[in-house]
Amino acid sequence: MSNLSGIAASNGIAIAKAYKLAVPDLSFEKQTVQDTDNEINRLTEALEISKTELEKIKEHARASLGEEHAEIFSAHLLVLSDPELINPIKDKISTDQVNAEFALDETAQMFIQMFESMDNEYMRERAADIKDVTKRVMAHLLNVSFPNPALINEEVIVIAEDLTPSDTAQLNKQFVKGFTTNIGGRTSHSAIMARSLEIPAVVGTKEITTQAAAGDILIIDGIDGEVIINPSNDEMEKYEKKQADFEKQKEEWAKLKDEPTVSSDGTHVELVANIGTPEDVEGVKNNGGEGVGLYRTEFLYMGKTELPTEEEQFEAYKSVLEQMGDKPVVVRTLDIGGDKELPYLELPEEMNPFLGFRAIRLCLERDDIFRTQLRALLRASTYGNLKIMFPMIATLDEFRQAEAILLEEKDNLITEGVEVSDSIEIGIMVEIPSTAVIARQFAKEVDFFSIGTNDLIQYTLAADRMNERVSYLYQPYHPAILNLVNNVIEAAHAEGKWAGMCGEMAGDSIAIPILLGLGLDEFSMSATSILPARTQIKHLSKKELATYKEQLLSMNTADEVEEFIRSKTNQ
Ligand code: PEP
Ligand code: MG
Repeated sequence: MSNLSGIAASNGIAIAKAYKLAVPDLSFEKQTVQDTDNEINRLTEALEISKTELEKIKEHARASLGEEHAEIFSAHLLVLSDPELINPIKDKISTDQVNAEFALDETAQMFIQMFESMDNEYMRERAADIKDVTKRVMAHLLNVSFPNPALINEEVIVIAEDLTPSDTAQLNKQFVKGFTTNIGGRTSHSAIMARSLEIPAVVGTKEITTQAAAGDILIIDGIDGEVIINPSNDEMEKYEKKQADFEKQKEEWAKLKDEPTVSSDGTHVELVANIGTPEDVEGVKNNGGEGVGLYRTEFLYMGKTELPTEEEQFEAYKSVLEQMGDKPVVVRTLDIGGDKELPYLELPEEMNPFLGFRAIRLCLERDDIFRTQLRALLRASTYGNLKIMFPMIATLDEFRQAEAILLEEKDNLITEGVEVSDSIEIGIMVEIPSTAVIARQFAKEVDFFSIGTNDLIQYTLAADRMNERVSYLYQPYHPAILNLVNNVIEAAHAEGKWAGMCGEMAGDSIAIPILLGLGLDEFSMSATSILPARTQIKHLSKKELATYKEQLLSMNTADEVEEFIRSKTNQ
């Protein structure tokens, strides 16, 4: 029995046995063989098993996540059947009389190096595919098990060093009851995905992969950020009760599903959801979302080998808008970079990717990519209540350029005879301190603000949001953050505009009373946070909270702020 603390990344309690998601040891010795036919048979068998696995994974990805996510596995299957790769491996076994492992590795390495050094982006992608596929075949040759998260078919809790967005996308929540990782923070994308899958998760435990073995019984407490390994009977009982209480609590929350969000003294605020794909809309509706406050479009671009077409994007945006009816849908234009990579764009490695060539910076330079997205959005605008926002705006000039391109594409479409809505609001994410500081100037030109605290906190306190070693500096209640947030809200209201927040802070039970008091108009959060937030707001008086504003803004530390709010709201 042992316990680990981490960061509560997604609500709920899960109890199941551990499934370790780690690349196994694939080391081998070079051997000389006499029976080369037998080696070729071993290779053929490993290739066949790998193909069958990949077919299954591809089907699973297509069924649960859609065609886009399945595409990557088609590319892997093509590699496995490519005679240009397979025949040289067989030839090597026969001619050099070596074992299949050695022949596979040597040949694959040769192709990987060749493709990696090519100028052509498509070929470089093939190198990554060969690397992935070779690992799978090698594991079968060596008879070691290779993790396939998409193929899990019994109830488990996944443990891993970290989960990439595509690992998370493969998890089937029917069987994967929760996950826990060594690294990551509440706003890392695996944590965000866990919340949209609605499975409990604890990230940043630092040592779950060394402390727990496959098959150990685990309890994940995604409410308080605890992981219990091989619990005692008492612990088991305690958490089964906590799990049952949580389920009951969820039933209570569900009663407010179709209610508006109104504070005890009658102020209405909007509670809307953050989504990553059209499939997430169902969760928004089930959780009583009053709209979509942030549609992260980058998932349309990830896990693929090339840019999504205008048509593909149009279908995705149209689907979200249609599903939401007349409720607002704020779509954020491409925010790639930082921890979200697109290998096929062939961007050079950077020293500081979070401070580098990303999001709107990339879109303004690669305006071919930007224009395709904007056209798709504008075409979809007649299917619902669309608002468009630009990410990572640091200067007014960036906003003006982005808006000009948007208006140009609108004119182009109208000239082409395509209908475009004439009531699309255009706003920006406020996630860079420079923009928060001069929000007054921005407010004259934008239709709305959405404060992206996930990044605003990391840039203001200079603390990487992904790095658990500096997570102590990642302080949403730091008075500097509260002052910036207040500045943005005041600036918006002075110009008759609205201010929302789509960072994770918007769904935090300590932050909610503060934000309500500061006058935030729209709170956008993970769908599963909406009903708890609505319940909380129902019991808060906005007028009373507003009287604490000056006091809160002049406090010295985040702890002081937290303590004050806890005492005023009985938390
Ligand atoms: C943010 O920075 O607060 C935000 C919502 O965007 P992302 O988490 O996608 O960077
Ligand atoms: Mg951001």
